[in-house]
Amino acid sequence: MKSDNHTPALLETSIRYIKGVGEAREKLMEKLGIRTLRDLVGYFPRAYQDRTIIKSINELVIGETVCVRAMAAENPKLSRIRKGLDLVKLRAVDESASIEITFFNQAYVKDAIKQGETYIFYGKISGTLLRPEMNSPLFEREQPHSGPDSVPGSNPAKKPAAAQITGRIIPIYPLTAGLSQKNIMNAVRYGLDKCADELPDVLPNSIAGHYELCRARYAYENIHFPANLKELDIARRRLIFEELFVLVTAMKLLREKRVEKTGRSLKTPNFEEFYKEFPFTLTGAQKRAIDEASRDMASNKPMNRLIQGDVGSGKTVIAAACCWMTWRNGYQSAFMAPTEILAKQHYQSLSTLLEPLGIKVGILTGSMTAKNKRDTYEKLNLGEIDLIVGTHALISEAVNFKALALVITDEQHRFGVNQRSLLTEKGDSPHVLVMSATPIPRTLALIIYGDLDVSIVDEMPPGRQELKTHVVSEFHRERSYDFVRKLVSEGRQVYIICPMVDEDETLEAGDSSGDSAENSNDLKSVKKYYETLSKKVFPDLNIELVHGKMPTKKKDAAMTAFASGTADILVATTVVEVGVDVPNAALIIIENADRFGLSQLHQLRGRVGRGEYESHCVLFRTDKSGEISRERLNILKSSNDGFKIAEEDLKLRGPGDFFGSRQHGLPEMHIANFATDMLVLHQAQNAAETVLQSDPELKSFDNRKLKEQIERLFEINADKMN
Ligand code: ADP
Ligand code: MG
Repeated sequence: MKSDNHTPALLETSIRYIKGVGEAREKLMEKLGIRTLRDLVGYFPRAYQDRTIIKSINELVIGETVCVRAMAAENPKLSRIRKGLDLVKLRAVDESASIEITFFNQAYVKDAIKQGETYIFYGKISGTLLRPEMNSPLFEREQPHSGPDSVPGSNPAKKPAAAQITGRIIPIYPLTAGLSQKNIMNAVRYGLDKCADELPDVLPNSIAGHYELCRARYAYENIHFPANLKELDIARRRLIFEELFVLVTAMKLLREKRVEKTGRSLKTPNFEEFYKEFPFTLTGAQKRAIDEASRDMASNKPMNRLIQGDVGSGKTVIAAACCWMTWRNGYQSAFMAPTEILAKQHYQSLSTLLEPLGIKVGILTGSMTAKNKRDTYEKLNLGEIDLIVGTHALISEAVNFKALALVITDEQHRFGVNQRSLLTEKGDSPHVLVMSATPIPRTLALIIYGDLDVSIVDEMPPGRQELKTHVVSEFHRERSYDFVRKLVSEGRQVYIICPMVDEDETLEAGDSSGDSAENSNDLKSVKKYYETLSKKVFPDLNIELVHGKMPTKKKDAAMTAFASGTADILVATTVVEVGVDVPNAALIIIENADRFGLSQLHQLRGRVGRGEYESHCVLFRTDKSGEISRERLNILKSSNDGFKIAEEDLKLRGPGDFFGSRQHGLPEMHIANFATDMLVLHQAQNAAETVLQSDPELKSFDNRKLKEQIERLFEINADKMN
């Protein structure tokens, strides 16, 4: 037996030492992310070719690719059609019928196939049902070990040899230029043989047994070289389970660490007193979320809760309720928003609501004068402000609280985990509430925010106008402008959104092409577009411009003009994406809509339909955008449900693109698919629960490999997780 600490060493061996992998090939494989034997055996095929099905000739279907077992009825005939075109032809027969087989420019076949011998041919069937044909099939002798041209290394055992070309399932790997399927297949075969006894088996025996999962050795062998589809299935299930199980267990561990801390237990006030301050009745979902959050705050563990709710679902009310409870207990709250505009808007609505109740609300943003900031710092220190609303200016070192017990961040995904924790450190294990309108599919939220509890606000306040979405092309431009005029003449306001400020500004997350230089010509620069609209298209209307690179003063002036109704049209970049609330706006036009992620578009259109007016969203497709983008945009047309849209977006683009790879901080999955492997995910979650319940620190012998793997995961993702 090999010693335990030998295990990592072998798997960590560089692929350089593999026979047939020279310097050049090593570089190419590195491009695919393969540096060590561990990477190599973990480099899973993206697809498979099933060459196990052998059909008799009279069962063949034209167009299918299959194996045929047939005897050469004659010696192959070589004929030279013209220079550069050799044909080798033969007729082969089985008990049912005969088939014409032709090889193009493979003269050697003439001597490789002999009359009277039986071969397996694998290829695509052409010709007619009466006269089937196969062109340049792969072939080999039926009993490979019996003849002189047998396949080296093959044996009569059940397992096919690496070089065997029929009667098996062939892996298809993702490639890079310069590498062939065969190169990778051979390297993987070598890796599997070399590491056969030491393949990473991280599943505890108890779990593998309970969920009837195969061993690692079987899984790795059969994910690469399955003898049949059933074996492949068993291997896949085990590997998907393993990947999700490790991730989920890791996230749960993070969460446990947090729960160990003690927090301030607050007394729960009678919320009915608070509810009666509103001109409307709270929705069931709002009350439920408030109930869940207040229970957290009443416990002696710090709350760490995510409030997930579609745009307009009324999350601010929930935040306000938590601030109210905190104030009733004599403590301070901090509310952090990602932009200055949003911070001001929250300040306005929260102070209007809470000041009459006796709560002192303050604001802190980067653009405030030094004196105003100093005043605010002092008041916070003395406890003269009960609730401070602000931007990341709140993280500044100068900010100190008298007794901070609640930290709220709005649009959580806009902040790094880091910024959230910096604000948290300003209190003594304060309760934390994060709010997000980026609708994340539920199961995914559980993984991404594995260290958070989640409340979902899945109910809209009553009386909302339906929002109609139209996907249009350049052809409809004039008509769209006419529509703007009509609405403005009726007293409504309009947003027009462009993706960028300057042509050289990089695209926001959601675009993966990264090649903005090539595309910049057809991107509307928001400044130029603003000029055109205000001088040529709507010279008689009031148009304001807002973009991220403007000085805050100008930005505020423009926003205020729009919010107060003096401006008819607001031309903007995505700075208006989150939270801005102008109920009189009834139309949003989004240029270059293909460039945005669906969830982001959903956020953007949430700017309208917030009041009593029927509202519209017009999405301009650039003319050359393809089928997928059309299909994607149509999802928005047919659904107003942010969660459903997110699910669809996830299916179409995968989790990496969904969040913009940097945003979700999850390790890349090699085999599991968050969108389709739901059942296994649930099992993995249950399994993680079981394991951690009986061994919270993974100290037992059975769990040691799991622990190692989690440590490795955190190492690899250290930069992402922090
Ligand atoms: P979001 O979840 O997008 O942050 P907001 O908190 O900004 O949503 O709420 C959107 C609008 O809905 C606000 O104008 C708010 O006053 C209003 N609102 C919130 N809750 C209700 C409710 N229960 N009934 C009616 N209107 C509500
Ligand atoms: Mg909001």
